[in-house]
Amino acid sequence: MVVVMALDATDADIAAVVATVGVAGGEAFVSRGLNRVIVGLVGDVEQFDSLNLRAMAGVTDVVRISVPYKLVSREHHETRSTVHVADVPIGPSTITLIAGPCAVETYDQTLEGALMARSAGAAVLRGGAYKPRTSPYAFQGLGEEGLRILAEVGEKTGMPVVTEVVSANDIAVVASYADMLQVGTRNMQNFTLLQALGACNKPIMLKRGMSSTIEEWLMAAEYIAQRGNLDIVLCERGIRTFDPTTRNTLDISAVPIVQRLSHLPIIVDPSHSGGRRDLVMPLTSAAIAGGADGVIIDVHPRPETALCDGPQALVTEDLPALANVVSSFAKVTGRTVALTRQPEVV
Ligand code: PEP
Ligand code: MN
Repeated sequence: MVVVMALDATDADIAAVVATVGVAGGEAFVSRGLNRVIVGLVGDVEQFDSLNLRAMAGVTDVVRISVPYKLVSREHHETRSTVHVADVPIGPSTITLIAGPCAVETYDQTLEGALMARSAGAAVLRGGAYKPRTSPYAFQGLGEEGLRILAEVGEKTGMPVVTEVVSANDIAVVASYADMLQVGTRNMQNFTLLQALGACNKPIMLKRGMSSTIEEWLMAAEYIAQRGNLDIVLCERGIRTFDPTTRNTLDISAVPIVQRLSHLPIIVDPSHSGGRRDLVMPLTSAAIAGGADGVIIDVHPRPETALCDGPQALVTEDLPALANVVSSFAKVTGRTVALTRQPEVV
């Protein structure tokens, strides 16, 4: 941590900072430049945070040099991690395609969606049973009945399943059906939920809050990790910007930045970022070219009847192109496409 003194800071101001740091058990090193003095601190950063050095006379800024998250950082764990969803890897040596309907609506629609996903090479099936809708009048999901359908279809098609959990009270029931639990953008900073997921023995997919910085996102992951669950996959799903042309603005730069800061795998959701079918393929290509460890994509057999997010769902005709993009990029980047278990005959 570095304390930047004001141009008019007095020697007494500087001595007070040094003394305060000393009392807190740290060491302070004073560097005098031509115009300005900075004080470098060595010791427990959390302890320094509580000193409120910024409020001291003659101080203009306090700059943290080490990152505030620990367990999810590459300082803690240098090599990039691979998280397994049942037997499907998500990590640096594979590209993992997760696909399925936005919401589980009926058994038949979920099965059709799963077969579409599998035909595109998806290794994991997605489908929401608890839907966090902006409107309380919109379809809220089938709840436990949706979980049951999803698990049954996953079993039938040989794909492990990921689904959203919106409340700490639902974790046990969701974990009893799902292979990975998803935290949606609206709950990224629901710290009670995150802490409870830290005690869950299933992997977690943590979507980025739509208005969250990368640091806030990694701190949210730290909440889960701190309670003992390090099987976390981050998912960039677009952030709110000034431009209403797309549902959200996909922050591609988050992918290499997160990979530099954190050992956790990161995937991209091109469906919820663009919010439009015609953008899903270009954003998928951009995500994988940018180094994403996978993508999660909405598909629907009849998007015009979908109860949720029809306009962004890929249709059957789109799937060969999706499969082609994933396998071509895998070849070019020396990775393999993550595979499903051997499916039963459907
Ligand atoms: C979803 O994946 O179904 C979803 C609701 O996504 P997000 O939380 O990113 O909006
Ligand atoms: Mn959706």
